[in-house]
Amino acid sequence: MKLINRPAALIITALAAIPSILGQTKGRDTELTYIMPEPYEVHKIVPPKGNKVKNVILMIGDGMSLAHIASAWSANHGKLFVENAEVTGLSKTPCLDQLVTDSGAGGTALASGKKTKYHSVGVDGEGNPAKSLVEYAADNGLASGVAVTCRLWDATPADFCCHVVDREEEDKIMAQYVDTKADVVVGPGWSKMINRADGRDLFKELQAKGFSTPRSLDEFDAIKSGKVFCVTDSFDTKLPAERGDYLAHASLKAIDILKNNPKGFFLMIEGSQLDDYGHFNDIDLLMQETHDFDRTIGAIFDWAAKDGETLVVVTADHETGGLTLIDGDLEQGKIVCKFSTGGHSGTMVPVYAFGPGAERFTGLYDNTDVALKIMELLNLK
Ligand SMILES: [Zn+2]
Repeated sequence: MKLINRPAALIITALAAIPSILGQTKGRDTELTYIMPEPYEVHKIVPPKGNKVKNVILMIGDGMSLAHIASAWSANHGKLFVENAEVTGLSKTPCLDQLVTDSGAGGTALASGKKTKYHSVGVDGEGNPAKSLVEYAADNGLASGVAVTCRLWDATPADFCCHVVDREEEDKIMAQYVDTKADVVVGPGWSKMINRADGRDLFKELQAKGFSTPRSLDEFDAIKSGKVFCVTDSFDTKLPAERGDYLAHASLKAIDILKNNPKGFFLMIEGSQLDDYGHFNDIDLLMQETHDFDRTIGAIFDWAAKDGETLVVVTADHETGGLTLIDGDLEQGKIVCKFSTGGHSGTMVPVYAFGPGAERFTGLYDNTDVALKIMELLNLK
């Protein structure tokens, strides 16, 4: 594993499964103050009027609860792009064998409409492949893709493209991308594509399957059509303050390719590292990630409003950190928060919907229903 150029904080990502180390070191049950250095402007985005659902974009803030939204909203002086969603709902997150899920099982439910066991990725409770929205879309002639900021073998992107019983099988997960039905995959993680223990060069294998394999968003920008597997960094992407508008850029470019399909597309976008900073109990980086995800939501809502036939659903797979907003000041953009855990919590998570079909997402339902509603709206069989 290459650690050069990787922000030190991210090295701890691999340790995120060890709550005893994390959380206690930083902010558990301690009051943490964050003051937004430069609040961003938020504009009104009016959802389109029609009711035809040609495309669906599912945006997942990993570990993002109402407390994350309320904290980010307060820090940005009482405004967020996600407020442009005209419909809200609540998603119940337990997995098959545990009340408090991980990203593997939580994301599998959002991807396939099936509950599965803790740590499973894209398989059902018996370990059989659980067909994902990416695969349903492809089998029905639509284009599909994923755009994320975390290493591609991490649970959420893998839930949409891969099928393994245990998320720890990282080399196996990465190799399964060679057979993905997605037309566009964009994110970081080339360290598991080359110099592998099994000697495979996954870039070469993907090229043999007809994928372009750009290694930066600039290279990706030059590609106008065809299948694209764009891997930009060796492990995770850079810290939010260092990577600019990576997620919005990657997502809009993915859309630029996917929209070539006249039958429509499905795209999953993940604000991946909210989860990491929830595990670290790091309120500064958590707010930076949440604001980056919200600005990406704004860019996607803007695109969808112009398109007119795209439904955008924003939700989370679970909550991370047991975040609580206990005080603050809207005028100063100041928040005072506490974390109660270095792991995940079992609270329901919000669902926001924008565009045609949005009304279907009101109410209180299982995480699996998010996928089932999308399948129904896109008429995926
Ligand atoms: Zn997660």
